[in-house]
Amino acid sequence: MKIELEGLSKHIPGTGDFIIFDSEKCNNCDMCLKICVMNLWKKKDGKIYIVDDYKKKCLECGACYMVCDPGAIDFSYPSGGTGVVFEQG
Ligand code: SF4
Ligand code: SF4
Repeated sequence: MKIELEGLSKHIPGTGDFIIFDSEKCNNCDMCLKICVMNLWKKKDGKIYIVDDYKKKCLECGACYMVCDPGAIDFSYPSGGTGVVFEQG
């Protein structure tokens, strides 16, 4: 099941990339694509990529980083955070 809710998280301006994807190491196993509840990993023409605006939706769960055996995904918590910010409820 994937989460598609808009507004669940918000982007803190100025935060740099905190997920670095190395396509040279990727074996296209699809594990990141399957594990990401926010559906931020995609596949096109047989190649994995992360959506350009991932910083707006990423929950900073680190799951994609954990499942990537070849080490194609580097993840670090962004300073200040960009992920889940509960504004309602
Ligand atoms: S989990 Fe890693 S190796 Fe597998 S498709 Fe994703 S980036 Fe590529
Ligand atoms: S850290 Fe979690 S929410 Fe962010 S891209 Fe990876 S699996 Fe998806």
